[in-house]
Amino acid sequence: MERHECLIIGSGPAGYTAAIYAARADLQPVMYTGMEPGGQLTTTTDVENFPGYPDGVTGPAMMEELKQQAERFGTEVRFGLVTKAELSDKEGGWHKITVDENTEIEARTVIISTGATAKYLGLEAEQKYAGHGVSACAVCDGFFFKGKDVVIVGGGDTAAEEATYLAKLCGKVTMLVRREELRASKAMQNRVFATENIEVLWNTEAVDLEGEGAVETVVVKNNQTNETSRIAAQGFFLAIGHKPNTDLFTGQLEMDDTGYLITASDSTATRLPGVFASGDAQDKVYRQAVTAAGTGCMAALEAERYLAALD
Ligand code: NDP
Repeated sequence: MERHECLIIGSGPAGYTAAIYAARADLQPVMYTGMEPGGQLTTTTDVENFPGYPDGVTGPAMMEELKQQAERFGTEVRFGLVTKAELSDKEGGWHKITVDENTEIEARTVIISTGATAKYLGLEAEQKYAGHGVSACAVCDGFFFKGKDVVIVGGGDTAAEEATYLAKLCGKVTMLVRREELRASKAMQNRVFATENIEVLWNTEAVDLEGEGAVETVVVKNNQTNETSRIAAQGFFLAIGHKPNTDLFTGQLEMDDTGYLITASDSTATRLPGVFASGDAQDKVYRQAVTAAGTGCMAALEAERYLAALD
């Protein structure tokens, strides 16, 4: 059985940052990238809010640089999907990880950085206009819609927060809410209602997007009257929730009711010794590349300390 001191699952900013720190601490980490090496950032275009890139950088280029930095210190980056995890509950125990259904590996510490996946409505047009007006992250992409009109779907805290964020940058923000009320907290609701350039359309769902090469119109339907109408908008933002990629750990690690991994406060430690969780699999509030990198760093430092204490 192949054995390692430190295994990192997932290759987004959290995973690569954990790898850089773990490798520099001589833990000789092995990383499994998952099916989308580089994670969510490889599906975005320009990243302008990651410190250190004064001219911005594309998501794929940034992830390639993070990979090179992790490899430079000796991280072994392997393409593969972890399909099973049998985590030990013993101090110093070996955690058994199965890759691609057939390869079994044991590791003394496991850093989980499997990320999350933004939910989409499932419209064909969302794929057609991906990167051309459709986005699931207002903080990442809102800037590209400066002065333009946009539509945002959702009625939770994320939608409310992102609608108010977009309202500062954009012309008009139309919020599509499928029910007659928002799920967002009262404080966030009040902010939405107090913002002049946000219009909330109740009982309204997006059914299609139209435009020559990029989004120009959002087709919506009132789900009470079945009436269809068109909204002129250059940006179409989804804020209907994320799904953390944590199904592997169901029944073994503590999660909240939406599947986010729960860690000790001010720490990335899970309830099992030697298992640490970082990035979007564990953070539902900030979900930024830089915060994911921060928790990846924490996870590697905690893994190093855990191993040192065992010695
Ligand atoms: P939520 O699950 O809370 O809200 C999702 C919203 O999207 C709901 O309004 C839901 O409608 C709507 N929705 C879901 N599916 C569809 C669909 N197919 N079509 C149209 N609308 C849809 O997700 P959030 O991302 O907003 O929040 C996740 C968690 O993170 C929450 O616990 C939230 O409180 C927290 N959070 C906290 C923040 C903070 O404290 N600053 C900031 C952001 C998030 P419906 O209500 O009808 O189900």
